[in-house]
Amino acid sequence: MKLIIAGYNIDKSLIDSLNTETATPEVISAAYARISRSSKDIDFLRDEAISEISKARASNTNIIFDMGHSSVAEHAVFNLDLIGVSRLLTDTIQRSRLASFTEKSQRYVTFSKDYIVPEELNKYPKYKKQYKQLMDQLFSEYETSFNALNEYYKTAKPKLKPRDREALAKEDARYILPLSTKTQMGITINARSLENLLRRLAKSPLAEAKELHHELYSQVSAIAPSLIRYTEDDGYMGKIDLEKVGYTGFLQQELPWMEELDMENKLKVLTSPSNPDDSVLTAIIYQQGELNWSDTNETVSRLPRLVKQQLWNQVYHNLKAWHKVPRAFETIDFSFELTFSESCWAQFKRHRFCTMLRKGGNSAICKFPDSIATIGRTQMWESLASSVSNFAFNLPSQLRVIAPYCRLNSSLLFVYAKMNLREIYHFIRLRSDEHAQWEIKEISHLMANRIIKIAPKSAEYLCGKSEFCRH
Ligand SMILES: Cc1cc2nc3c(=O)[nH]c(=O)nc-3n(C[C@H](O)[C@H](O)[C@H](O)COP(=O)(O)OP(=O)(O)OC[C@H]3O[C@@H](n4cnc5c(N)ncnc54)[C@H](O)[C@@H]3O)c2cc1C
Repeated sequence: MKLIIAGYNIDKSLIDSLNTETATPEVISAAYARISRSSKDIDFLRDEAISEISKARASNTNIIFDMGHSSVAEHAVFNLDLIGVSRLLTDTIQRSRLASFTEKSQRYVTFSKDYIVPEELNKYPKYKKQYKQLMDQLFSEYETSFNALNEYYKTAKPKLKPRDREALAKEDARYILPLSTKTQMGITINARSLENLLRRLAKSPLAEAKELHHELYSQVSAIAPSLIRYTEDDGYMGKIDLEKVGYTGFLQQELPWMEELDMENKLKVLTSPSNPDDSVLTAIIYQQGELNWSDTNETVSRLPRLVKQQLWNQVYHNLKAWHKVPRAFETIDFSFELTFSESCWAQFKRHRFCTMLRKGGNSAICKFPDSIATIGRTQMWESLASSVSNFAFNLPSQLRVIAPYCRLNSSLLFVYAKMNLREIYHFIRLRSDEHAQWEIKEISHLMANRIIKIAPKSAEYLCGKSEFCRH
């Protein structure tokens, strides 16, 4: 056996110091692309790719785009610093499943008046002025609420260290911040995912998305021109234009969102498997036994309760908080409809492998943290939420695209989510943990409680990391 480290991501300044055209991840893609049809060792293929870079590029283009072997582009990975992007646009960016993100946290960092003024407003000075005034008011209120919360916690939680007290204050004050707030993030993404991201950005109606598309494409294609091709909006959307359908049955005629705004029922289980515990046992035993799937399932279903319990004891033997449960847990799916704030969505959406479909509601319908009433700021928050929402609602049609920048972190939205039990285990380990933020923790607890009732054995260890460690 021989193992060679063929490459790894290092700082761009070091790459630049090499001052060579061959310092491109295309070399790795080109060499790996040839593995399947060459008898030569991989390190030799890499040497060849470096010595003939234009041939390597032509080979990449042929294999990835003409032959359709797109996974070859995954061997080229980029690290991107993205600075000064709106929280709104992070939604489009972080849809990438096969990519890694680390974003500035509104729980740990205090935000100064730093928000996106959409380029779309440049031609409309009257609206631009109003927009900036509203944003300034939101950021001022953030500061006022942060200071008031910080003072409040000095007496309410005197034992807290100043840093932890400030973190608590930031955690709730940020609910008044808009989605126009600037943030920054580190992204690690391979060329194949990056091509998808470029296409997604191209389809966005926002000028900010177009700007990022341009920057990203021009910088990446200068380094690795052979790995990305389909980067523009090609007209395919996969959406339905409800207005063209001419049928109003999908729209609520009166009291919009009232039915969905049942906050007591912020997590609805839409679908769940009929016999989840037996299904997971079947899946585990299937891999080890000699019977086919149906016969394994039939045999499992007829096992005495005591025997099943012994099997479950074995499944969980030695399980630690950081372990993943077996893939057999992926065989059962649950789907949910969730109601929570934009702030909670910003965390929820980071769980990359679940299916999530979001729809925004009326941005004036908000969920404020309880602490905001305690410091006597509710009225001000309500008034600001109503002002930004009115502003967004009354924008002329050509400016409607920028309305989502006016949504607040506290604006409510609705999400359909489908998750298998293995993903749910991971989600709940993190989000029911003592370090998790309160709103997503509430959702996580609700989810765990509901699932444990449906799947008492396969969900037996569904709890936060901290709770698991106390077992
Ligand atoms: C208390 C807390 C504080 C946080 N603070 C911040 C913060 O300040 N800033 C911030 O940006 N995020 C923060 N996060 C979000 C966190 O970094 C994760 O993005 C989020 O929890 C999603 O979890 P995940 O990445 O483990 O897994 P998911 O996306 O749910 O993926 C499930 C599993 O798939 C595997 N997986 C997925 N992608 C990869 C990959 N590319 N490589 C290897 N394995 C992979 C992993 O095993 C992972 O556990 C915080 C999360 C918590 C719980």
